[in-house]
This record gives sequence, structure tokens and C-alpha cells, in this order.
Amino acid sequence: MLGPPGSGKGTRAQIISELYKLPVITTGGMLRGAVSEGTDCGVEAQSYMDKGELVPDKIVNGIVRERFQKPDVEKGFILDGYPRNMFQAEFLDKILAERGIDLTHVILVVLDDRIIVQRLSKRRSCPKCGAIYHLESKQPKKHGLCDNCEAKLVQRDDDKEEVIKHRLEVYAKQTAPLIKKYRDQGVLVEISGEVPFDNIRDNLKEILG
Ligand code: AMP
Repeated sequence: MLGPPGSGKGTRAQIISELYKLPVITTGGMLRGAVSEGTDCGVEAQSYMDKGELVPDKIVNGIVRERFQKPDVEKGFILDGYPRNMFQAEFLDKILAERGIDLTHVILVVLDDRIIVQRLSKRRSCPKCGAIYHLESKQPKKHGLCDNCEAKLVQRDDDKEEVIKHRLEVYAKQTAPLIKKYRDQGVLVEISGEVPFDNIRDNLKEILG
């Protein structure tokens, strides 16, 4: 999944995961897990995450390499939030080549920055299972509580407006150049981030078959 923060990559990754029974590999989620467990990686990553900067490649690539050791990736997987720059993309190419895996789709979710700022400042997420909600367009069934595990929903520190703006700049500078790489590779599929939540499932089925 490729696209700016808040374009709806995580939501789509979860839906694809349910549709095709594939694991989601989310570096943001794994890093947040490391932060809350207080591991060495987590402690180092946190200061970058709080500022909306990319966590150093060495840490993120290490986490991804370790994740690819698990056998569940053999039948396929969805990468959400990785790679985020050219160095990570080349590292991923190496891991995939070692395992003889081809990327079938790189889904680019396209959404205007103005809508992203509005959307992220109203995003809430479950600290336990990572489910994502929105104060207007995707409210939980019980106010303020996760539908899956009833944990109290939280706003991520990096979903505050100034940090969001910086994350968008980081995306434009470091991540957006990957669009050309994957377009040249012939695997890029562009989809709109404005599809209403209830139609996302059908939209993805149409694209992925
Ligand atoms: P996300 O949940 O994907 O928006 O990620 C939240 C934060 O985690 C980002 O703003 C980065 O600080 C960090 N992060 C997640 N994935 C990566 C990555 N592939 N490379 C570097 N930093 C990352």
C-alpha cells in the first residue's frame, strides 16, 4: 500500500486482509508495538515518530527482515507503510528476490492534502488491535470504544495538525519518488482515497479480482 499518511492505506490493508486471508505487515503498527513494550528499538524509534520523521532505515529494515522469517508470508502478504523511501524499496527488492517472490500490485491511494489534514485530525484508533475509526465517517458502535475489543479509542500523538503537515512533507520528499519506480515496474494501481467507507470493499475487489 502506497500513499500519503491518512489516505486510507491502513483501512484498505485490513479489508484486503479479510477478503484474501492474508497477513498485514504494518511497520507503523510494529513500531508502535515496540514503543509501547519499551524495547530498545521502540525507545529509539519514538522520538522520530513523535516528530513525524521517518524512523532510521536500519531499524525499520531490521524489523521487516525479521517479520519475513515467519512462515505466514509464504501465501502472500500486504505491506502497509513500507517501503517509505528508495533505500527501503531496494532492501525490499533484495528480500523478495531471496525468496523468489514477485510484487503483484502496488496500490497507490490518492488523496488531496487538504482532505488528509481534516481526516487525520478526526481519526481515532484502538491501542490494542489497531482498528481505525473516524469521528464522523466511521464511528464505533459504542461511543469511544473499539468494536472488536472494547478498548478505549485514542488519538495518535502524530495525528495532531502540525505533525500531520510535517508527515505530508516527508511523504512528498522521500516516499512519493517510489511511485515512478513501481509505475515503471508495471505494478502500480491508482485508486481514489475518497471512496465512501461502505464502497471500499467492492472497489478493492474490482481491482484485485
Ligand atoms: P504510519 O502508521 O504508517 O503512518 O507510521 C507512523 C510513523 O511510524 C511514521 O510517521 C514514521 O515515523 C514511522 N514509520 C512507519 N513506517 C515507517 C517506515 N517504513 N520507515 C520509517 N519510518 C516509518
